[in-house]
Amino acid sequence: MTLDYLIVGQGLAGTALAAELLKRGKKFMVIDRFRMNSSSLVATGLINPVIARNLNMYWKADYFLPHAEKSFRQMEKFLGESFYTPLDMLRIFRSDEEREKLRQRLEKHPNPYVGRFREELPPGLKGRHGAAPIRGVAYLELKTLLPAMRQYLRNAGILLEEYFQYDKLLCEGPLLQYGLWESERIIFAEGPGVLDNPWFPDLPFAFTKGELLTLEIEGGPQNTVISKGHNLVPIGGNRYKFGATYAWDFEDARPTPEARALLEERLQELLTLPYAIRGQEAGIRPTVRDRKPLLGTVSSDPRIAIFNGLGSHGAIMAPALARDLMDYLEKDKALMKEVLVHRQIKAHNS
Ligand SMILES: Cc1cc2nc3c(=O)[nH]c(=O)nc-3n(C[C@H](O)[C@H](O)[C@H](O)COP(=O)(O)OP(=O)(O)OC[C@H]3O[C@@H](n4cnc5c(N)ncnc54)[C@H](O)[C@@H]3O)c2cc1C
Repeated sequence: MTLDYLIVGQGLAGTALAAELLKRGKKFMVIDRFRMNSSSLVATGLINPVIARNLNMYWKADYFLPHAEKSFRQMEKFLGESFYTPLDMLRIFRSDEEREKLRQRLEKHPNPYVGRFREELPPGLKGRHGAAPIRGVAYLELKTLLPAMRQYLRNAGILLEEYFQYDKLLCEGPLLQYGLWESERIIFAEGPGVLDNPWFPDLPFAFTKGELLTLEIEGGPQNTVISKGHNLVPIGGNRYKFGATYAWDFEDARPTPEARALLEERLQELLTLPYAIRGQEAGIRPTVRDRKPLLGTVSSDPRIAIFNGLGSHGAIMAPALARDLMDYLEKDKALMKEVLVHRQIKAHNS
């Protein structure tokens, strides 16, 4: 059978692509080797239209957020699972000075996702300087979404659970050929696995390692994400995720005692309640030097495309970018210039 698309990778990027292809009635096959510590399976899964540090709106949040909500809701219906939960969020101030600085900043750059500052905090939290409520936040439970999509693909017979061997892709004929499969196009969505990809060498990645803890807290804040440098995210019952750390220099993707110690220190500063650590996970984010995604095709062969560089904001961006990439490939609709894979990249400076 001739396919419309081969997709390499079933992280958040590959899953959003699969959902988009299903919507469009395309014939496709996903190839993914499973990794428990892929960025997508480790991720907190927070969808947040605000940069917590300075209360600015996240880049194009107005564009990404409505489509993310709509798409994840559609995926919930389609897959018969629940994994998208809207939450409240409080960004706690560390000092009166910080609160005043952020108030002035908001006066100059109003942000509709930031509510009126409030004095009181939920019980169990340390802090005397109040907090900013943040709207539009949701928790995407990737440990439910990804396996559910995987099971769907497996049942439909359109999943190859193996490592994609780059030297086996033949591009000479009118159709791409990979083993027994012929396809019009291929989209690479391998996250950090792209380092093995000969069609997209030397991309401007600045991978970041992230670590987080899973906690149990009796009487902790319900339905509210607490943000104070790191995020405390309620994930159901008395369980929470707390993180994540950022490291640019790292040797491997394994959890470290240093990250655990740092997160525990931050927890002591945040909580008056006792907590129990139930897990620690680590993963590598596919971050780009200018913190924007990488989409597009190989200049010499437009049948070969990439969907990568989701960095630390994959959950809010993936559905809209999957749609945009398909519109680009199928309808020749231009991609945003900020995401073009062959753009000139400057270092991130905010
Ligand atoms: C600790 C941590 C916390 C995070 N928290 C958040 C958050 O709260 N909100 C948010 O939006 N983002 C968060 N992120 C970032 C988010 O996880 C990423 O943006 C996103 O998951 C990247 O998805 P991806 O599909 O591009 O890559 P990946 O998740 O790496 O998926 C790539 C997939 O491709 C497969 N693959 C690679 N090469 C091959 C090959 N040759 N053959 C077959 N399969 C292959 C891999 O096994 C994997 O399954 C966090 C990341 C970390 C590490």
